[in-house]
Amino acid sequence: NNNNIVVSRILKDKNENKPIPNPVRTFEEAFHNYPLILDEIRKAGFQKPSPIQSQGWPILLSGEDLIGIAQTGTGKTLAFLLPALIHIDGQAVPKEERQGPSVLIMAPTRELALQIEREVNKYTYKNIKAVCIYGGGSRREQVNIVTQGVDIVIATPGRLNDLVQNGIITVKSITYVVLDEADRMLDMGFEPQIRKVLYDIRPDRQTVMTSATWPPGVRRLADSYMESPVQVYVGSLDL
Ligand code: ADP
Ligand code: MG
Repeated sequence: NNNNIVVSRILKDKNENKPIPNPVRTFEEAFHNYPLILDEIRKAGFQKPSPIQSQGWPILLSGEDLIGIAQTGTGKTLAFLLPALIHIDGQAVPKEERQGPSVLIMAPTRELALQIEREVNKYTYKNIKAVCIYGGGSRREQVNIVTQGVDIVIATPGRLNDLVQNGIITVKSITYVVLDEADRMLDMGFEPQIRKVLYDIRPDRQTVMTSATWPPGVRRLADSYMESPVQVYVGSLDL
């Protein structure tokens, strides 16, 4: 297919311009230092990184914020997930001293959250633990898992807010945040819940946003919560 790829950094101040990390052509190039992750990708049988992965992995592995604008089915989940797993291992706070999860992934629907959880469980190694939090699921069960200790929380914004406001999820140690399908989350009216949760998360975190479109609401969200993000747009040539 005819993919057009545009990569640019969104700056508030022109003077803070930094070079954008180069894309990778192969899985080996991206993850040669992480043999466990490479093993899992090989098992999946993929041939090469998708455009959003090829551009996104070096940006995320260098600790920068990323906005991925691309249609459904372009591999956005692994684009943010594999760097998230590496991030957990390399996190400054030693595992024993962390309070609560290190990674938060917000998604618009229960189905999407569960889909991400399945992908997490495929690639999870070194005892990284994940929980999926969504309205309609057993709150008691979700609370139980959180209480036992998790590294990754995958959540819809409503139930997430409930558990954060009630002190069940501690956001103190969260240093990597993903807003998956940001445009859909806004369409569903989740903006207040998203803003409420992000307000309490440490400002030096890394933030990733994915979206199929780039409307003003999503731009405002990026503007409020991201730090000189690199935007990777993957779209059809015939606009
Ligand atoms: P998106 O979030 O962009 O809609 P997904 O991350 O759900 O897309 O990926 C869509 C499908 O593509 C999934 O089945 C996933 O396993 C597969 N996939 C991911 N990365 C690759 C790749 N590099 N090559 C081939 N298939 C891939
Ligand atoms: Mg997706």
